[in-house]
Order: sequence, then structure tokens, then C-alpha cells
Amino acid sequence: MQTILSALQPYASYIQVRSDEPMAHHTTFRIGGPADLFLNCRSGAPLDQILPLLRGFGLPVYVIGRGSNLLVHDEGVRGVVVCTTGMHEIRVEGDAITAEAGAALSAIASTALRAGLTGAEFAAGIPGTLGGAVFMNAGAYGGQMADLVTRTHYLDENGCPGVIEGEAHAFGYRESIFKQHPDWTIVSAELRLTPGMAADIRAKMEDFSCRRREKQPLEYPSAGSTFKRPTGYFAGKLIQDSGLMGVSVGGAQVSEKHAGFLINRGNATCADMCALIDRVRDTVQEKFGVTLECEVRLL
Ligand SMILES: Cc1cc2nc3c(=O)[nH]c(=O)nc-3n(C[C@H](O)[C@H](O)[C@H](O)COP(=O)(O)OP(=O)(O)OC[C@H]3O[C@@H](n4cnc5c(N)ncnc54)[C@H](O)[C@@H]3O)c2cc1C
Repeated sequence: MQTILSALQPYASYIQVRSDEPMAHHTTFRIGGPADLFLNCRSGAPLDQILPLLRGFGLPVYVIGRGSNLLVHDEGVRGVVVCTTGMHEIRVEGDAITAEAGAALSAIASTALRAGLTGAEFAAGIPGTLGGAVFMNAGAYGGQMADLVTRTHYLDENGCPGVIEGEAHAFGYRESIFKQHPDWTIVSAELRLTPGMAADIRAKMEDFSCRRREKQPLEYPSAGSTFKRPTGYFAGKLIQDSGLMGVSVGGAQVSEKHAGFLINRGNATCADMCALIDRVRDTVQEKFGVTLECEVRLL
């Protein structure tokens, strides 16, 4: 460990390094044991040097954003977790917004509002980063990242830079080319928006935010919708109609407000959450013959 820390010393102005860092502090589920090594990167961090250096030590490297779609094992992560939330520069040029991977979607949506650009309103209430949102093709209220992203800068598994443009992103429902290449790291992305009226943009953002507060259990730790929407159904409705609302395993519970959300009632472990996910999946399969697929990623 000391050798790795020494090797990282030249990058000290760009990274904050901690060992045995509880991942529960870095996931919206508030679940997860310690990561052997946890790096928080600042703007402009030379990831093209840092990531190959870490991999050169034979360490598995996991890049995360806000951890808002992650369930981390109770045993934690053997390897290095690289967190991008300190890389959050956002730039507006005409109707394009370019941002670093760690920029919060809420900050991007606010920037768009200030610039009089419409299209990013759906993203305002998604509590993730741009990198996580491009990876997941995050979406809400009829919008999705695929509608906005024109170009993504990334590093491949060897730290070599690359650019993905347009259709090459292979966006689908909660899918992107980056899900097919989990060792690639998104560094920044360019979004194309449309000029709009600030009052309309603000009204749309407020409406979406209101709907979230009304329908979602935002008062509890979660990772949003736990399951993908199965074709022709709504996961939440299937779970509710299976009589699972409020059902719990340990500290993990199917929300009584929105059955699509599995929540942490305070002391849930990853084992509790996984057991609840299995129970929900098995019951829905049994009652409706529909297979629920997890949207949340297990680390
Ligand atoms: C209350 C709540 C509401 C939510 N509502 C929505 C919603 O309406 N719509 C929706 O789609 N999602 C929603 N989510 C889920 C989540 O916010 C999104 O999936 C978000 O895009 C994840 O971003 P993140 O930065 O937190 O990614 P993380 O959870 O940190 O990571 C998710 C995945 O992306 C990968 N990743 C992250 N950054 C990078 C990078 N720079 N390079 C390569 N890979 C990377 C990670 O390795 C991981 O596999 C919600 C979550 C919560 C808690």
C-alpha cells in the first residue's frame, strides 16, 4: 500500500487519497463496506496517467460518480474506487454545454436554465453525475441523456483517450456503449440543447421536482428505481400488485410511497437489500410471469 501511495504522490494536487474508506459514505443507499483505496479527483486530474498507474499495480479500478445507482457489498471493495465528483467544470458555448464527468446533473440543468437553454430539465432531479448519467443513459419524464449527448471523451482500459460521437454511443433504455466497456472511463461530454424561455424552463423544472417530492420516498436513502421498466409494464405497479409494498428484510424495505423504490430504513446491509431484491423478483415472476431486471449496479 505504501508503494502505491508513494507512486501517487506526484498527483497530490489533483487527488485526495484515503484507505479503508467506507463506501456507505459515497452511495445514496448509504450501504457498503470499505474500499481498500478511495481517490477523489479534482478538475483536470490527469486520469490518463493515474488510472494506468493504479492498474499497473494489478489493482482492480472502479470509477464512480455520486454512487446514486450503486449497491456496494458489505465486505467493501478490494481495489481502488476512483470518484469523479471533484471534477465538475461546466462550460457553455452557444447552445452546447460541455462538462467534466463529475459535474452534477442538477448543476448542468441549472446552468442550462441560466443560459436560456431547454432540454435538460428532466435531469435536474436525478442525483447523479454526468459520467454516471451517460453510462446509464439516465432519463426521466420523457427525456434521456441520449437526446442531449453529442460527444463523449473517454479513456480506454489502457488510459488511451478516445471520442464517441452521435449514434456510436449505442444508447438504449438504460444502455450505452460504456456499459459494454466497463473499463472505459468517461472524462467529459458535450450536450446539445435548444434556446428557450427561462420562465418555461424554470416552470418545467419545478413541475418535475414537485412530482418527485410527491411520488418518491426522497426522505430515505435509495438508489431511485431499483428495477428497469419491463416492456409493457411498470415495475412499481407489478411490485405493488404483488402485495409487496412495505415488505422488508432487515433494514431494507419496499417503499410504502413508491413500490419501485427499495429503501434503506436506517441500518440496512447489502445482504438485506440483495435478499429483498431476490424476494421481489421471485414474487413478481411467480405472480405475473414477468422477469424484473435490476437497474441498480452491484459493486
Ligand atoms: C432519489 C433518486 C432518484 C433517481 N431518479 C432517477 C431518474 O429519474 N432517472 C434515472 O435514470 N436514474 C435515476 N436515479 C439513479 C441515478 O441517479 C442515475 O442512474 C445516475 O445517472 C447515476 O449517476 P452517478 O454519478 O450516481 O453514477 P454511479 O452510481 O456512481 O455509477 C453508476 C454506474 O456508472 C459508472 N460510472 C460512473 N461514472 C463513470 C465515469 N466517469 N466513467 C465510466 N463509468 C462511470 C459506474 O461505474 C457505475 O457502473 C435516481 C437515484 C436516486 C437516489
